[in-house]
Amino acid sequence: MKSNEQRYLPAPRFVWPDGNRCAAMLCFDVDGETTVLSEDKALAKRRTLMSQCEYGPRIGVPRLLGLLAHLELPATFFIPAYIVEKHPRMVEAIAQVGHEIGLHGYLHEKLAYLDEAQEEVILLKSIQILEDLTGSRPVGFRAPWFEINPWTPELLQRHGVAYCASEMGDDVPYFHENGLVEIPGQWMLEDWEQFAFNADPAWGFVPENCAKVYDLWWREFEAMHDFGCCFVLTLHPWLSGRPSRVRLLEQLLNDMREKGGVWFARGRELADYVRQHPESRRDLALDAPQPSTLLNV
Ligand SMILES: [Zn+2]
Repeated sequence: MKSNEQRYLPAPRFVWPDGNRCAAMLCFDVDGETTVLSEDKALAKRRTLMSQCEYGPRIGVPRLLGLLAHLELPATFFIPAYIVEKHPRMVEAIAQVGHEIGLHGYLHEKLAYLDEAQEEVILLKSIQILEDLTGSRPVGFRAPWFEINPWTPELLQRHGVAYCASEMGDDVPYFHENGLVEIPGQWMLEDWEQFAFNADPAWGFVPENCAKVYDLWWREFEAMHDFGCCFVLTLHPWLSGRPSRVRLLEQLLNDMREKGGVWFARGRELADYVRQHPESRRDLALDAPQPSTLLNV
């Protein structure tokens, strides 16, 4: 790699608070048993398959909460409301230590197969279940499988949701036409593609080596840090709660902190900041390419 003076270092995409160079949002999608049940409820009798999914709420979440406490970092947990009902103690434990809990469907439904009325019923039911258990109304939404419908931003705004974290149209937050904040993610910064595997039903691929995954995520983080982006990492406790992957996450987060200039934020904090400082966002213009600027961190 060339020295900083010779590298391509455009102006940061966003002006982040407190002089930080980039933002990072750690997301845990606690799909639990809905990973199976949303595919086919008849699979409920498949004990080994179900137990693999139960590993998330039972083992992965407590272990990951321990790591987050050890590192003193905040996170955002997107949880299907069915899992909230099934594992209330887990949800209380997450909320108690100040992590955010966001919406993630009822049974992890694929929104693409729902009409607007069906989607609204599920949204309202999920909001109610979360509010009843945690005492506060959820403000964040991550669509199951990341996929939203054309009407979803309007539905979310109508029911008081402040942000959506489902699209992939940028590497910093942006606004939907109705003003709803979008915090975009990317499949590349997801653990499913790296670690998921089940024989039957056939899910995923050969589980990746953690060293390779560290390299994939670290390279993207470093470049996002250079370019002033928002690093949105999406992990599933049944996958990333396994011991070697907890070590991978520990190493990644420690190295991110050591690099410095990273604003670790929950989704609701990001959405508040973006809404209060819309001028912080820097669009990329085709007719006025940004010259390289010297990186000062
Ligand atoms: Zn999910």
